[in-house]
Amino acid sequence: MTHAAGRSWHGTMPVQFLYTPGAAGLRFFQTVKQKGLLSATRCEECAVTYLPPRIYCENCFADLSDAWREVPGVGRVHTYAVAHVDREGRPLARPEIIAFVRIDGTDGGLITRLINLAPSEVQIDMPVEMVLRPPRRRRALLSDILGFAPPRAEQADVGRRRLTRKARERA
Ligand SMILES: [Zn+2]
Repeated sequence: MTHAAGRSWHGTMPVQFLYTPGAAGLRFFQTVKQKGLLSATRCEECAVTYLPPRIYCENCFADLSDAWREVPGVGRVHTYAVAHVDREGRPLARPEIIAFVRIDGTDGGLITRLINLAPSEVQIDMPVEMVLRPPRRRRALLSDILGFAPPRAEQADVGRRRLTRKARERA
């Protein structure tokens, strides 16, 4: 895991997947599939917007099953780790960047992959946006979310560099 200050260390990070099947999870993934948006629930009493959505407020136990709101998949990198091996310990051809992304307009966030950038390009607090499978290929599953990437305008440079490299490899 690398830090904004440049500290880094090696080790293992337990990654817990956020989603359990259930009413909130079903609705969350249907909304991703149909609208390309994330869903949160809001407790007005506590002024907390839960993402992943919770059906009950953690603070006051209010029923939030009718307190849904939809938010765009944009946020900022809160923390990240670079994986060099897969879950079975086999080396990955390309390192994967796993991040906790705080979602704008909510008090929560998602553990997700960062894509379309190299580990050296990641910065704490950088803005990122959700990248989804094309609408016809979505199945209302976690895999509909390919990951989060720098906003398209900021990606142009990274993309160009990559194309140049590919062209070189082909030559
Ligand atoms: Zn509450």
